[in-house]
Amino acid sequence: MAMADVTVLGAGIFGLSVAWACVQRGARVRVIDPHGPGAGSSGGIVGALAPHVPEQWNDKKAFQFDSLMMAGDFWAGVQAASGLSTGYARLGRLQPVADGAALELARARALSAADLWQGQAVWEVLRADDCGPWVPASPGGWVIRDTLTARLHPRMACAALVAALRARGAEVVADHAHQGAVVHATGVAGLAEIGAQVGRSFGNGVKGQAALLALDMREAPQLFVDTVHVVPHADGTVAIGSTSERDYDDPASTDRQLDQVIARARAAVPALRDAVILERWAGVRPRSRSRAPVLGVHPVFKDQFIANGGFKIGFGMAPKVAQVMADLVLNGVDRIPTDFRPEASL
Ligand SMILES: Cc1cc2nc3c(=O)[nH]c(=O)nc-3n(C[C@H](O)[C@H](O)[C@H](O)COP(=O)(O)OP(=O)(O)OC[C@H]3O[C@@H](n4cnc5c(N)ncnc54)[C@H](O)[C@@H]3O)c2cc1C
Repeated sequence: MAMADVTVLGAGIFGLSVAWACVQRGARVRVIDPHGPGAGSSGGIVGALAPHVPEQWNDKKAFQFDSLMMAGDFWAGVQAASGLSTGYARLGRLQPVADGAALELARARALSAADLWQGQAVWEVLRADDCGPWVPASPGGWVIRDTLTARLHPRMACAALVAALRARGAEVVADHAHQGAVVHATGVAGLAEIGAQVGRSFGNGVKGQAALLALDMREAPQLFVDTVHVVPHADGTVAIGSTSERDYDDPASTDRQLDQVIARARAAVPALRDAVILERWAGVRPRSRSRAPVLGVHPVFKDQFIANGGFKIGFGMAPKVAQVMADLVLNGVDRIPTDFRPEASL
């Protein structure tokens, strides 16, 4: 490539997705990451693309809803350009209902979902007996089913994005001079860099641990049970996550806290009881001070841009993050919700 129109720093899900949206609009793009694609929190195994509960609607929930609705086309495009599977499928999610109060809440949410999800997805309360043996038992025998939740495999998705970018002439490299518009999508390191520049915290890393088990449930919906996400993947594995740790010594190690998450999942889901553990993984999520994504003009380097703060939902947000960032960087069109602006974390 002679000259890049856009340089993206960081080859996690935010950087790669922004790069992909820019490439699709005809820009010449170079992604730079000294540690390689998926080296940060995006190199994991969970990949639940799950909605917020359908109530108390706000910009963040509306943005996330749009992004989840865009995900099917987004990931199909990546797969077509790369020839690689991303592991994406919208198979929904089941959540056992704990008690009478939860049942009442779930039914109220079914009504608000009908309105807020505009008929594009369903949130309903069903008898668990009607949902097959994959569903955990619950006291009253009720389960919430939603058809908006999807999954992908984070590592497969990152690898497919890199291949799609290269197939369209973009570069993904470890080092290069910056050219054109510069987008910082550097995750936890980027939040720390801004904090150091402005002299106070702009966000921090929140560690998470997850496990991958050998069980082929690839057509089954994911489960949310006893605070654990159980995500059947396309490759015959099931991911279980996650812990949430603000204080930690080693960002990459796993420990007893993960053992407890696995134990809770095994206790709730009979099919997981004897499944072999294939991998234990930990990563550090970029959490901005506002807890929301941070998108727009970079708060320190004012002639550059930022896409950070994916926190626990970076994969779910990526398609729409990519769209609004490409609008801003390439066309100067700003469709970023107020809550997502860097100022919200300053
Ligand atoms: C255990 C766990 C489970 C999760 N589960 C889910 C889930 O189910 N669903 C979901 O949507 N999200 C989930 N997440 C959150 C999701 O992984 C993150 O939101 C997402 O990975 C953030 O992506 P990112 O691109 O902003 O950051 P990262 O993936 O951390 O990428 C930042 C990149 O920047 C690079 N970098 C750093 N400094 C520089 C520099 N100076 N120049 C260039 N590059 C640099 C790093 O090497 C890194 O590759 C989970 C996270 C964890 C840890």
